[in-house]
Amino acid sequence: MTTRTIQQIIQSVATSDGGGVKLRRSLGQTQTLRLDPFLMLDEFSSINPDDYIAGFPEHPHRGFETVTYLLEGHMLHSDHLGNQGHLKSGGVQWMRAGRGIIHSEMPQQDQGRLQGFQLWVNLPASEKMQTAAYRDIQADAIPVVALPDGGQLKVIAGQADIAGIRTDGPIQGLSTDLLYLDVRIASGGHFTLPLANDHNAFVYPYQGHCNIGAAASSRPLAAQSVGILSKGDSIDIHAGNEGVGLLLLAAKPLNEPIAQYGPFVMNTREEIEQAIADYKNGCLV
Ligand code: FE
Repeated sequence: MTTRTIQQIIQSVATSDGGGVKLRRSLGQTQTLRLDPFLMLDEFSSINPDDYIAGFPEHPHRGFETVTYLLEGHMLHSDHLGNQGHLKSGGVQWMRAGRGIIHSEMPQQDQGRLQGFQLWVNLPASEKMQTAAYRDIQADAIPVVALPDGGQLKVIAGQADIAGIRTDGPIQGLSTDLLYLDVRIASGGHFTLPLANDHNAFVYPYQGHCNIGAAASSRPLAAQSVGILSKGDSIDIHAGNEGVGLLLLAAKPLNEPIAQYGPFVMNTREEIEQAIADYKNGCLV
């Protein structure tokens, strides 16, 4: 067994997007700070409605998936096809933009905390021009596993193997074999999980900090930072003094060229020019 260690730390930066939603961006701050197939990770967290109420009015996407996970709050999603989805606390929206979607993502509350994440996951060239589709997964459809050492794990996508017992998340069968976990470990607690050796993986503590790696070589990872992991077939995480809440993501890399212009992510410059032209001409979708 080779335990993964932290290879690179990306501290998030404060920025804003959409209609002016304040957020912290870690992956995707620049086009070199990515981890194939993960393109971007944003966290929004505020009790001040001025920071989020403007939401993300109508905008396009092509060529990848957006995954929105809400810890707290309400968001309404509506798209050009007339679909509407209501994302509530603990729920996930998994959207494949494919050849194109034009949508809006708007907070449905004018008080209280809105906290959540949006992850952008690249699609292989062969799937970039598929028809757009999305799934709303309510909180009660996400399995929760109690950890032997205290704490809990939510399996959003892929399979988690805890002490020999396998738990499947509601999202399965992606060609990147993606694993998306929300892990909470109590103060002083410890968590270990097997991971596919050739998958890229990262950890993002959203509350508290943790140490990653076998005891002798473990390295601290602060809240609101991405820790990109070395290759290896398992991960060891120790919670800090206040306990930790973190996202753990892993996936098979695509190893394909990336051409990105804002919300369009393709393989070549020509395909990006086509996406811009299609959007201008009203035939993105
Ligand atoms: Fe969007």
